[in-house]
Amino acid sequence: MSHVKSATASDAQLTAVRTRHSTTRGRADTLSGVTTAAPLAAVVAALEELYPPRWADDGDAVGLVVGDPSADVRRVLFAVDPVQAVVDEAISIGADLVVAHHPLLYRPVSTVAATSPKGRVIHDLISHGIGLYVAHTNADSPPRGVSESLARAVGLEDDLRPLRPHPVDPLDKIVTFVPREAADAVVDALAAAGAGDIGAYDRCAFLAEGQGTFRPGEAANPAIGSRGEIEVVDEVRVEMVLPRRRRDDVVTALRAAHPYEEPAFDVLELAGWSADRGAGRVGTLPEPTTLRRFADSVVAALPPTAVGARVSGDLDSQVRTVAVTGGAGDFLLDDARVAGVDVYVTSDLRHHPASEFREYDGAPALVDVPHWAAEWTWLPVASEALAGILEGRGSHVEMVVSRVCTDPWNYRAGAATSA
Ligand SMILES: [Zn+2]
Repeated sequence: MSHVKSATASDAQLTAVRTRHSTTRGRADTLSGVTTAAPLAAVVAALEELYPPRWADDGDAVGLVVGDPSADVRRVLFAVDPVQAVVDEAISIGADLVVAHHPLLYRPVSTVAATSPKGRVIHDLISHGIGLYVAHTNADSPPRGVSESLARAVGLEDDLRPLRPHPVDPLDKIVTFVPREAADAVVDALAAAGAGDIGAYDRCAFLAEGQGTFRPGEAANPAIGSRGEIEVVDEVRVEMVLPRRRRDDVVTALRAAHPYEEPAFDVLELAGWSADRGAGRVGTLPEPTTLRRFADSVVAALPPTAVGARVSGDLDSQVRTVAVTGGAGDFLLDDARVAGVDVYVTSDLRHHPASEFREYDGAPALVDVPHWAAEWTWLPVASEALAGILEGRGSHVEMVVSRVCTDPWNYRAGAATSA
């Protein structure tokens, strides 16, 4: 596969990336209390905070593909494609982990023998003690994800918003009524089970005082009061939000921590709203420019490829508002048109969708860039984010962005001169 090495990301781009994260390899494992390694399990946990697997599309194949969670990770290689050229690069730089955007095993396989390219990749990874982790569609939509990285790379400003926002993760609210002296313990228990997180705050609860009343039946074993007697107790109403996926954990914790035999509680499903993550991004350029200059600047902002970019539109028209989608973005063509942007940047556009799109009056121009190059823009962003999280936990792990161009197209034959 020597041809894929014929084009590499520019040295300046890559040197900048390496310099930010590099350290001298081989120094003592601890230096001023900062380790130079982290267990693979800790690296995976940090990656899954940035790019939770639950945000992946149904049927996607994300997560740890190869690796022992207890193995030490000192050096991580970030790459778009988990192909042989990237594995060779990982071996040559002594990486312990490859973080790839594209899945290795997207469809079920019945063999990983080294007789197929994917089997060869798995054998080489395992025999060199290198793990493989995949963050695919779960890395497309969030902040510090693929589309946001592409948007920033092509020069869009900070007014970025998703082209098609995703809803926030489903939330519930739990409401319960607790004797005043037990309220703190119940709030603690609900928080430990996953309730009460709001942004950077935890153990968030609202408390209001009131009175609860009940009459224990003959079969009851009341914590307060007597069988057959009406009881009135000073209680606190406790309200906390929780991720819906933690509902059973929180209810179990409530039953365990509440002093009553039969605690009263409500679980309410909250209406959703748009998250700060979603498919694609829309933003504006600092200054209007022509489509021709913008397209040239996009190509210059991406790592070099043999193909460059294809453009559809009046090259002298003014562009300022831009939509982008990392990867194959034809599923967002209508969204880009409805958003009223001047130009849509994405990859892998086919004749019919592009042609039909451009037939609309006032349709945005199109810039079709190589899939690999667009998604490469995520690698420095993700590696820096991962390094930051691990650094905050006392582990200095070296991050390296792949130098290998794995765009499958390595020559553009007979390209016509531009209009
Ligand atoms: Zn992709």
